[in-house]
Amino acid sequence: MNMSSTYLNGATAPFYLPQGDECEVFQAAYANKLPLLLKGPTGCGKTRFVAHMAARLGRRLYTVACHDDLTAADLVGRYLLKGGETAWVDGPLTRAVREGAICYLDEVVEARKDVTVVVHPLTDDRRILPIDRTGEEIEAAPGFMLVASYNPGYQNILKTLKPSTRQRFLSLEFDFPSPDRETEIIADESGLSRNRVKQLVRLAVKLRGLKGQDLEEGVSTRLVVYAATLISTGMPVDRAVRTAMIEPLTEDDDVKRGLLDLVTAVFG
Ligand code: ADP
Repeated sequence: MNMSSTYLNGATAPFYLPQGDECEVFQAAYANKLPLLLKGPTGCGKTRFVAHMAARLGRRLYTVACHDDLTAADLVGRYLLKGGETAWVDGPLTRAVREGAICYLDEVVEARKDVTVVVHPLTDDRRILPIDRTGEEIEAAPGFMLVASYNPGYQNILKTLKPSTRQRFLSLEFDFPSPDRETEIIADESGLSRNRVKQLVRLAVKLRGLKGQDLEEGVSTRLVVYAATLISTGMPVDRAVRTAMIEPLTEDDDVKRGLLDLVTAVFG
């Protein structure tokens, strides 16, 4: 489980370039104490967006990267043995509820079913977290907000979010930024010149065009940032592109050869 609690001061908000009015929507959801679901492909800026908004709103952020072993106890807390005695230790969700922080459940569909059950009473106007093990029922502090992300693009039918859960959240749809915006983001993140980044973005757009045919998912903005960073710190373009933008996408040698042809088409 990955957890971070940073950016309490709005002045240190991490860089985030909005794609539209998502900052205003987030702010309105926060002001009205409504939970928010961010839908979109991996690596398109959802986590960065939440970190940015938490900083702007001056809220502590608890991020939980969900995975298939993640249980409700990982979120809520458990009794742990401490110096011969058992003591209750709050999990990240409970801490966020008590402190009035933002809790971000990244890739919530990956978590076990009992996780969705535990968040349900927090998503309606009661905003409570019942803790069975301690008998407590905690009312969320005013600044508490629940944010979850979800990638609807995955083919795995078992991993879609149930309508009964989906209908509890406001939803914002994310996609990869437009080429101009993505160029700006990547130049800012990597320090590589805009002109050089432009070519990487052109390749990224072509690779994303193969989604659903040869590739399950196109290349993420995150990987393009990695390629640009490698290039700006001296790696030859060809090596950086292979390592960051081709190898992570497929294990199939034929597909890989096709992708490398695209690289040649873009970079000559
Ligand atoms: P996700 O949570 O959707 O998987 P991330 O938020 O981790 O993706 O985004 C991956 C990386 O892409 C970020 O670390 C950041 O470098 C970059 N990024 C993507 N979109 C933006 C944006 N709109 N503004 C700033 N950086 C962005």
